Amino acid sequence: MANQITHPTIVDGWFREISDTMWPGQAMTLKVEKVLHHEKSKYQDVLIFKSTDYGNVLVLDNVIQATERDEFSYQEMITHLGLNSHPNPKKVLVIGGGDGGVLREVVKHESVEEAWICEIDEAVIRLSKEYLPEMAASYSHPKVKTHIGDGFQFLRDYQNTFDVIITDSSDPEGPAETLFQKAYFELLRGALTEKGVITTQAESMWLHLPIIKDLKKACSEVFPVAEYAYTTIPTYPSGQIGFMVCSKDKNANVKKPLRELPEATEEKLYRYYNKKIHETSFVLPTWVDKELSSL
Ligand code: SAM
Repeated sequence: MANQITHPTIVDGWFREISDTMWPGQAMTLKVEKVLHHEKSKYQDVLIFKSTDYGNVLVLDNVIQATERDEFSYQEMITHLGLNSHPNPKKVLVIGGGDGGVLREVVKHESVEEAWICEIDEAVIRLSKEYLPEMAASYSHPKVKTHIGDGFQFLRDYQNTFDVIITDSSDPEGPAETLFQKAYFELLRGALTEKGVITTQAESMWLHLPIIKDLKKACSEVFPVAEYAYTTIPTYPSGQIGFMVCSKDKNANVKKPLRELPEATEEKLYRYYNKKIHETSFVLPTWVDKELSSL
């Protein structure tokens, strides 16, 4: 058909998420209704398509970043696990997260006075505003400040500034590689206020236990409290993704929310997160617990 955008990941009308290094021998597939946009940005290959059953889908370097149908699971959990583990989060920073979904969740907290984002790739922000409007809605929120740049470099300029920092990065292959290393966690610690909290995207227990072990080890060397939690989400590899949740306060218990909303308010604000799921998201299957508990 004339003018139809093609992409190597789309074969016979199905997008196929193949990676021989990150998830060998398996692939998530989504049926494509229409390819909406494709470009090579300065940092990565950016593809956006409308799927038949998962809404619009953002793909970076051939890896699904967000679908309109299930993004809330990830965005809510990475955000509220962190913010509800801090006694009074006022200034919050998101590293990565260009689709805007985490920002949308951050500004739901009344205590938040400033929500900053540092995203390396302007193309992700520009295209999310156009094709993922529900995720990107918060870019126009008065508390939001947007900075385009590398998260690692950005943090070098800030000391004792943010109450919570959320790293919503892509996988460690590509521009996000440095965001999984111990030096990055040291920068995060320096940029946090006294009782500061971080959450970071921490991969799938089914596929990446060695990466998760390295992450937990690095976090535990930098923060007195470092715990792994996870959420379920159909369109991330193996249907599951985790987070490191860390605090600078050695007495913090990040496994219990410090603030609880009435159930009716919680239901209005969140579709996935609630106080029970906050606690249970840290309960790990035996084989994972064995690997992580001693780190
Ligand atoms: N939730 C997603 C996932 O786990 O698949 C991540 C979504 S979010 C779109 C990831 C963002 O991190 C991308 O927009 C990417 O451009 C950004 N990113 C990657 N490396 C970065 C860096 N070094 N500094 C800032 N942003 C970065």
